[in-house]
Parts: sequence; C-alpha cells; structure tokens
Amino acid sequence: MLRPFFAHGPGEPKKQSPDRHDLLVEANRWQTLLDSTDQAILVSDSQGTVKIANEAAEQLFGELQPSAGLAKSDNTITTLLSFTVSSGLDSMLRQSVASHETIDSEISTLHHIPRSLQVRIVPVSDDEFLILLHDLTELKRLERVRQDFVANVSHELRTPLTSVRAMAETLLDGALEDRAVSSRFLETIIREADRLVRLSSDLLELSRAEACDVRHTVVDLTVVIHDVAQRLSDKAQQNLITISNKLTRPLYVLADYDDLAQVAINLLDNAISYTPHNGQVSVHAQESSTSVTVSVEDTGIGIAAHDIPRIFERFYRADKARSRASGGTGLGLSIVKHIVESHGGHVSVTSEYNKGSVFKFTLPKSPLQAGL
Ligand code: ADP
Repeated sequence: MLRPFFAHGPGEPKKQSPDRHDLLVEANRWQTLLDSTDQAILVSDSQGTVKIANEAAEQLFGELQPSAGLAKSDNTITTLLSFTVSSGLDSMLRQSVASHETIDSEISTLHHIPRSLQVRIVPVSDDEFLILLHDLTELKRLERVRQDFVANVSHELRTPLTSVRAMAETLLDGALEDRAVSSRFLETIIREADRLVRLSSDLLELSRAEACDVRHTVVDLTVVIHDVAQRLSDKAQQNLITISNKLTRPLYVLADYDDLAQVAINLLDNAISYTPHNGQVSVHAQESSTSVTVSVEDTGIGIAAHDIPRIFERFYRADKARSRASGGTGLGLSIVKHIVESHGGHVSVTSEYNKGSVFKFTLPKSPLQAGL
C-alpha cells in the first residue's frame, strides 16, 4: 500500500539504489508511525483514489460505511473517498486540486452514524494530497452536555431566587405589617433558601462523584443500609411509610463508606418521597460469587415507560411538581449512578406507572468475601 513517497524519512540521506528489503523496512516504519496517531490520515490522488490510509482512517471510514453501501472488500481503502462524496470531502479535494492550496473546513457526514469532522487537505505534489481528519463528534456532544448543564443550573438557581426576591419586595411594600402574610412569606423564603443549600451541596457531591476520587476500604453494605434506614425513619413515619430492611448478613464491598451512604440515602429518600401514605419500601440483597446487588423497592407512583431511559440524567424529573414539592434537586439519581459506576458497578430501574419502582445497584464484592 505504501508508495516511494515514504521510501526515506525527512532529512535522511537518500540511498543510491535501495534494495527491496530496505524499502520494506522503511515502509513498515512509516506505517507504524502513521498508525500510532488517533488522527485519521489519508493520501489521495487528484481523483480521490486513496493510496495510503492509517489505522485511524480505516476505522473512521469503516464506521461511516452506509449499511446498504459498498461491501468492504480488498480495495476498501481505494474506495473510501466514494463514501464521503455527500459529506463535502470530495468538493474540498477538488478545490485543493484546482488551487493547489491547503483547504481547511468542517464537514458533516450524512451516513447512518452522523459525524462532524474537521478536515485539512494539503497538496503534497501535483497528484498527491494529504488529508487529515479529526473526528469532533464526541467533543461536540460533550460541549452540548456542558451547555445544557450550565443552562439547567442557572434555571434551578433562578427559580428560588426569583421567588425569594418577589416575597422580600412584597414584604417591604407593606406586607410586613400583616403578621399572617409576613410569616407565610418568611417560611417560603426559608424553604427556598434550603432548596438552594441542597442544590449547592448536590452539585458539589456530583462533581466529587464525577472526579472518581474513590477511597477504597472494606465496607459492609448491610451496616450502611441499616444506618441510612435509621436516619430516614422519621421521614418515613411522617409519610406513613413502612421501611422493611431484609439485609441481615454482612455484604462486604471495597468502597467509600460516605459514598455508599449517599447512594442509599438518595434511593431510600426517593422511595419514601414518591410513595403515597401507607405505602411500603423494602430493601433486598442478592449475591453472586463476585458481586452483590441491592434493590430498593417501593409501592409508589411509579415511572412512565418513556421517562425511564432518561431518569439517571442530571436534572431530569419525571414528575416535576412532586419533585419540587418534596424539595428534590433532580440530581439525586445522577449522583447515585456516578458513585456506583466509579466503584466499578452499575445501576438499573424497573417500574410500573402507579404501581411502584425497583431501583437496583450492583457492586463487586470485596476480594475477601468473593474468596479471591
Ligand atoms: P429528585 O431530586 O427530583 O428526586 P432524582 O434524580 O433523585 O431527583 O430523581 C429524578 C426523578 O426520578 C424524580 O424527579 C422522579 O420524577 C423520579 N423518581 C426517582 N425515584 C423515584 C421513585 N422511587 N418512584 C417514582 N419516581 C422516582
């Protein structure tokens, strides 16, 4: 696949007549160098026939192949450009061939996996063009996630602040004289301030969980759950909810105690908040030889099927009114997901609308308990 173009490195003295072996060694050296980068690199002629492609290019174009398109064959590389005609790569190449100048542009592919690519085409000789492609798709997705997050945080901050300001203004405008109104307004101001405190501590918790800063010690999950159930027993009683904790024998995992307590608090607190009076919340555990799964089951309002895939996203609420009424920040489940995943585990949920939900998290057992 390599051509004499790469027969000797830059700055190296040219051999008079390199033998076949030397050329092969040299070609392999350049191929290794090209394959060691994540950037997709191609060399094409002026017609768009690809002469050289590194591994990253083969991977990228492999992914871009339309499902009903050309089959991958021995000459995959030479046909690669034909896959991208619709994406604008072809017209960039024609521009570079005509002007013999470097062309930079961003293109979007129209294949079944849409991608954004930063492309640079550099004329190397009359009939050789170096094409550098940088896949921006993931970067753009992350940028969108970041923008959404900032917009959500500002919205969550503005809502309570707006109501605090409006109430303070009304009080100043004379409502202060009316004892009943002023005490109602002041209670709301305190409630909104509490919501802001919870939001800032959840944001801190989330950023800590995302930093994957895990301090592992052997922790007994059963002790964690008992501790948390105890802490939430007042709230359960006020809501007329029975917590039944079925964890009896020690379940050792390698984890951070406070992180696991946070997972249990968020799941149990939600189970209590989203279950009507006289409901039941129960906690079970299931073990395999290498992992332990804890389920938190409730007889609550349940989650509609269309909300389930998004329920672990930051600020996603299935029942907005109820979440706000119960003082929720919309961050609890994303904190749970991040903590569990940073401990090498995973989370899941099954739910039936108006019947109840089961949230599960699975963690690897500590080597001690797994008998390793
Ligand atoms: P919130 O602070 O709003 O409770 P979470 O991230 O903890 O935020 O939960 C996200 C959303 O998932 C909630 O707003 C609620 O709509 C839904 N949810 C979470 N747990 C339950 C549950 N046990 N039963 C029903 N809905 C739930």
